[in-house]
Amino acid sequence: MTIAPSGPRAATLITDNAQLIGGEWVPAVSGETIEVVNPANRDVLAAVPRGTAEDIDAAVRAAEAAFPSWRDTDATTRGTLITRWAQLIEENESELDQLESQEVGRPHWGTPPMARILRFVAGQTDKVSGLSLPTHSPDVLGLTLREPYGVVGSVIPWNAPGPMFVNDTGAAIAAGNTIVVKPAEDAPLTPLALARLALDAGIPPGVVNVVTGYGPEAGAALPAHPGVRRMSFTGSPATGSSVMEACAKNLVPLHLELGGKSPQVVFPDADLDAAIPAIVTGITLNTGQICAAGSRVVVDRAMHAEVVRRLAEAMAQVSVGPWYEPVRMGPLINAKQHARVLDYVRSGQEEGAELVLGGGVPAGETFERGFFVEPTLFDRVQPGMRIAQEEIFGPVLSVIPVDGEAEALAVANGTDYGLVASVWTGDVGRAVRMTRGLQAGQVAVNAALGAGVIGGPFGGYRHSGFGRTMGADAVLDYTQVKTVSLRGTA
Ligand code: NAP
Ligand code: MG
Repeated sequence: MTIAPSGPRAATLITDNAQLIGGEWVPAVSGETIEVVNPANRDVLAAVPRGTAEDIDAAVRAAEAAFPSWRDTDATTRGTLITRWAQLIEENESELDQLESQEVGRPHWGTPPMARILRFVAGQTDKVSGLSLPTHSPDVLGLTLREPYGVVGSVIPWNAPGPMFVNDTGAAIAAGNTIVVKPAEDAPLTPLALARLALDAGIPPGVVNVVTGYGPEAGAALPAHPGVRRMSFTGSPATGSSVMEACAKNLVPLHLELGGKSPQVVFPDADLDAAIPAIVTGITLNTGQICAAGSRVVVDRAMHAEVVRRLAEAMAQVSVGPWYEPVRMGPLINAKQHARVLDYVRSGQEEGAELVLGGGVPAGETFERGFFVEPTLFDRVQPGMRIAQEEIFGPVLSVIPVDGEAEALAVANGTDYGLVASVWTGDVGRAVRMTRGLQAGQVAVNAALGAGVIGGPFGGYRHSGFGRTMGADAVLDYTQVKTVSLRGTA
């Protein structure tokens, strides 16, 4: 296959009321649309198709049709096309960044990671290899082949639509699969723009398809479609469980990235100058709407009062407003999430936690039409309270005082989730014990999540999901193994 030159790009990356099926920008079969709103002021940003099972069916068929030729495209070319996609994303970085800010409501948070994510998997594309195996007889060769599944289905959430979209799509197509993505109804624009750039990069029509629509309509139709051979779901545990049920019916393997209730464990020998700002950023970045948000501070009573005082001081400094102003925290995504976060604040007070900071809606004209809440700090939270157990997905931090290392570990591990955990201590022995003891897919010592690690596999323990993305096996994970025995004829 040859690589076609990049086509001309429209001034804007979005076509109103169009989803991408088989390389064509089309409305929903029903003709209906969904309005996407700016969560800072409820202005309508665009209308996208309200896709349903019929649109999913068309997209899966288009992906099936594109699969044989994409599978047989040599790995070097596939990697080159994905690299070109990354280049186009870099060239359009500020438009993509603005689009994501508009629909999610977040202030600029640094260079968007999409191009980096794609370059990482593009580099794996031509390194998918099998094994040569010993055989019982010298006239037989034994080997393994790594082959793509076929059509991959992906359902992604609204909190970071750009990174979520390229994370699933990049790895799946690098391995030679084709994909149908159902983005969240609240944030489908960045995925649509990214899909346009994939086409512009020369990734053939039908390899990447996007069907917009509501979760119970378009979303549920994807894992239920018999043409889908592998699923990936990122979102809440409840929806993840229903996607898993649909996959069980069709005997389709899946990857689940679910939520978290991540602990920040602070010991008396911690460097608070490093810990406090990292903890505050961890719960206010993207208005706390990050699966990895550190939402529980598990702190030793020996310095509990100092930690609460400093957290309150630092959280009070977090400026709130619309994303295009120089603020640190924007609104929540929608009215439902707004009501949900405020309901958790009430629940915390009713259960007897001490509200130290925030808890309400900021006053003033700027905030009237948006879904804003204040950075909120609760102290004297008991491990069994709802605000200590359930994922709030908002800027609400719970401080849970404990006595000593054993209790700290038990409380840190005492939820159904297991996504990320941070430990703050100057004692290496304690850091090692805690690292081994914490039940989470990612543990950071004296750092917030990641701390600059490149290629760290990402995923959950327990109800936070299973499977890993972003690591050295990201592309391999989208392949299945075929064992070949090859007997030569005499
Ligand atoms: P959600 O309701 O589970 O939605 C996630 C996605 O699933 C959306 O695209 C949604 O579409 C779709 N969906 C809804 N119902 C469906 C159904 N019956 N069948 C198939 N798809 C369906 O989650 P959310 O509350 O919007 O998002 C926040 C959650 O995602 C949090 O729990 C958070 O922790 C988790 N999350 C996890 C990660 C991670 O990497 N671990 C990353 C981000 C978010 P609609 O938007 O149209 O409803
Ligand atoms: Mg939803």
